[in-house]
Formats: sequence, structure tokens, C-alpha cells
Amino acid sequence: MSKKNIYSFTQEELIKELVENPIKQFPSFRAKQIYHWLYTKYEDDFSKMENLPKELREFLKDNYTSNAVEIARKEESSDGSVKYLFKTLDNLTYEAVFLKMKEDKFTFCLSSQIGCKVGCSFCLTAKGGFVRNLSIGEMVYQVVAIKKDQNIPSNKAVNIVYMGMGEPLDNLESVKGCISILSELDGLSISARRQTISTSGIAPKIKKLGALNLGVQLAISLHAVDDKLRTELMPINKAYNIQAIIDEVRTFPIDSRKHVMFEYLMIDGLNDGLESAKKLVALLNKIKAKVNLIYFNPHEGSIYKRPSKEKVEAFREFLLKKGLLCTIRESKGLDISAACGQLREKELHN
Ligand code: SF4
Repeated sequence: MSKKNIYSFTQEELIKELVENPIKQFPSFRAKQIYHWLYTKYEDDFSKMENLPKELREFLKDNYTSNAVEIARKEESSDGSVKYLFKTLDNLTYEAVFLKMKEDKFTFCLSSQIGCKVGCSFCLTAKGGFVRNLSIGEMVYQVVAIKKDQNIPSNKAVNIVYMGMGEPLDNLESVKGCISILSELDGLSISARRQTISTSGIAPKIKKLGALNLGVQLAISLHAVDDKLRTELMPINKAYNIQAIIDEVRTFPIDSRKHVMFEYLMIDGLNDGLESAKKLVALLNKIKAKVNLIYFNPHEGSIYKRPSKEKVEAFREFLLKKGLLCTIRESKGLDISAACGQLREKELHN
């Protein structure tokens, strides 16, 4: 029987594993101790979990794995961002990015799938096609491994964005499980409010996510204000066009203190003019929206170009004047393989 990934259980589920397993039963309080080792001390060696009885340590070793994923490679940027490449037991790879924001704030950008079905034309991950969904444990481990590697104490609040490889709403089961585990108070204690699901805009799945009422934040990769360009950039727009997405966003349960984030990838000469800015303002009318402008980060072979700083700033100024919140995402990690899928690509061709 294959071993279960120890990072795939909420504390309540872990209690069940200990109390109800047919081999040997252990008291429920042991789950809290195991959680403490895994998520506070970042200890993944069961034999070193000293306050657990030997019998339990052996039970864990025989039935669970804590090393289903390992860091295969990492690249550090001069601005402190670090890109991690993880390798799974079946020898597949996926990426996560550690971003150092202002004032000692950290954001972790997590993957939800190996490859992706959505097929955005600007995305390197899309080029390799879809391989498989990440499991809950494989997703959670990204956070544990980065916190451990960066020496970030367990109780330090960090932000999570599900914006790495894959479309998170295409793997909602694992994403949901990951959100629950990350928010466990005896574990990493990252509240759902600090976790943002970023989607390419699969309208019926936005509805499904809203119905789950997980308390997470929502980000939409909009990138264009007319369907023709959006379909060119994101073919999924043929199935769910801009209006269908906006209609769904209007009914999504949003935390009163938060906004729906609209990601807008600025591409030179394509969507970076004031005409586009005007349309964007009209489109987001009466939505509690925040726009995040992102410089396109060109990779080898890409047909798109990075826009000028002046154009991006003029775009932002226009939105601000019209009363829309707007930020420009700092281009973190420009000197590393920061675009989604680049580090994996390098590993595959080594
Ligand atoms: S940008 Fe995101 S949704 Fe689009 S293909 Fe790449 S990984 Fe998938």
C-alpha cells in the first residue's frame, strides 16, 4: 500500500487517522504534537519527533511520507525573490516563487497543477500542456519548504497567491484542502483572508468557488478589455467571455475589507494605451475592484514585448483619476527565470 502524504491532512483529519486506524490507535492529542513538529519546527523526519512515543514514530514512518516532494533547484534574484523548483516522487517538476515585498512582507506564489489546460498564449507553462493536478500535500509542501528554507518563523504572517503553474479552479479539490491546512491555527495559521485564488476566468467555477464561501480573495486574470484581444491572449475567452466573467464577479462573496483584484498584463502596443484604460474603467463600474498592472516579462521566443514605464504609469494615473484602485506590480526577479514555467523549462532541457 502506498504511503499517504503527511502534509495532506487538516488537524481534524489527522486525529481521525490516529484514532480510527485499524492497525493501532493513538490518542487525539498526538495530532497537535505532530502538527507542531511539521508546521512550527518544520521537522520532516518522524524519528526526530522526540515527544512522540517510539511506537507512534514507527507507525508514522510505515504509513506516511513526509518527503513526497523535494526542492530540486532554486534561483535567487538580486531583489531577494527566490524561485523554487520542486520534484515529485513520480519525477515531475513544478514551481513556486517567494516574493519579498515592502516592509518585510512576504508573498508565496503557489502552483496548483503540473502544466495547465488553459493555454494562454503568453505563458510558458501552457506550452508544455497539462500533465496532472497537484495533490493537497504537494501544494501545502510548497509553503512549508519555502518557510523553512527562508528561516521564516511559523507565526510570521505571509500572503499566499494561487498564481503559479496551473489554473487553480481546475483543481479546486486540492486548492480547497490546501487552504484549510494552511489556515490551521496550530499549524501555519495563514487565514483564508490572506489567500488569493487567481483564475483565468472560468465563469461557472467562479460561481462554485463563491458558493463554497471559503473566505478567500479572488483575482481575475483579465489582461484585455475587448474579447478579440482577450481570446488571442487567452483562448478560454471563447468559452467564457469578458462579460460572463464580470457578471460572475458581481455575485461573488467579497470580504467587506477587500477588493476583487483584476490582473492586467501590460503588453507593449497591444493593451497599454489610454483607450484600453477607458474601457477598463467602464467595465469595472460599481465593482469593488483593484487593478494590478503587471509588466509583461519576456522570455525566449516570446512574440510580446515589455511596455515602457511611461505608458504603464500613464495607464495607472488614468485609473486612479477615475477612482479605481490601481497598483503596479514590481517586476520581481527579473534576473531569474521569473515568468511562470521558465525554471521548469530549463530543468527539462538540461
Ligand atoms: S497563465 Fe496561468 S492559466 Fe494561463 S496557461 Fe499559464 S498557468 Fe494556465
